[in-house]
Amino acid sequence: MYFEPPVTASLARLPTPLQALDRLSNTLAGPRIWIKRDDLTGTLLTGNKIRKLEFVVARALAQGKTTLITCGGVQSNHCRATALVAAQLGLSCHLVLRGEPPSPADGNNLLAELAGANITYLSHSDYTRELTSTLTSLQAQYDAAGRPAYVIPTGASDGVGLWGYYSAARELAHDFSVHGITPQLICCATGSGGTHAGLALGIAHLELDSQVRGYAVCDSRRYFEQKERADIVQWYQIYHPSIKPSIPSLEINDEYIGAGYGHANAEVFAAIKLLARTEGIILDPVYTGKAFAGLLEQIRRGELHSASDVVFVHTGGVYGIFPYRQQLQTPTS
Ligand SMILES: *Cc1c(COP(=O)(O)O)cnc(C)c1O
Repeated sequence: MYFEPPVTASLARLPTPLQALDRLSNTLAGPRIWIKRDDLTGTLLTGNKIRKLEFVVARALAQGKTTLITCGGVQSNHCRATALVAAQLGLSCHLVLRGEPPSPADGNNLLAELAGANITYLSHSDYTRELTSTLTSLQAQYDAAGRPAYVIPTGASDGVGLWGYYSAARELAHDFSVHGITPQLICCATGSGGTHAGLALGIAHLELDSQVRGYAVCDSRRYFEQKERADIVQWYQIYHPSIKPSIPSLEINDEYIGAGYGHANAEVFAAIKLLARTEGIILDPVYTGKAFAGLLEQIRRGELHSASDVVFVHTGGVYGIFPYRQQLQTPTS
């Protein structure tokens, strides 16, 4: 049974288009590849985080909060989106970022600074050790200053943010009926798990037959199975406490992580160039390029030969290409 989502802060431009990549598909002798253009949820608010933030920010506002605190890598799309949402709604924003402040500011980091976010930088080792205590003490400082703060977890992936892709599943179901397709596979990049978990739960509750696969860009399959399960349990606890949680099958592929988060290999850059040239769509090296390279590799190996249609969810991240300008200029083919 599909559960009606709560009212959102209405930040994303929805619905986003579902479009067929016919020129690309024709070069591959595999299924027809479709792309769900969640890179078009906005311009500055581009990407998957906006669908989750719609629900998270609505909850923060309902609780009377006037500050948003969140965390991530220096080039976090989620932190850039949160900073811009805060500015658009007249809220304060504080980001805790992992790594050194880039000099000069670039990509997402430049946009977050422009939006007026206060930023604390922690080295990689301090971030691992001190993130939780840093978030807690920042929250206390803002609370004491009369700017009550809501702490958004990494990637807005929790039981609240889950609604973003739970409701996107219904949008996809509508797209499928408009185009008359029943895709065997829906896939996306997975970094904090909320997109994949929300899609998997929504697709299960809509009783669609599609498999939902997340291509991990960091961490392991086991890590995401546990993390996504926890987020789904929390979703039930907050919104449907009298219902016993039922966990859908959670399919994570962790074969294409390469050297780790933020490290992209030649296949990733080649996939970015291929889609840019055949379809005029830009992927990023951290998330969507890595996941799309994984999908292409599986298609080339014939693993999806029995599928007629597959859907790739473009989760955004365009500003993430700029810090990789040097690698993108190196010939890859
Ligand atoms: C955060 C992000 C993802 C990963 O989504 P999760 O819900 O965190 O797993 C994928 N693509 C882009 C561009 C992102 O910014």
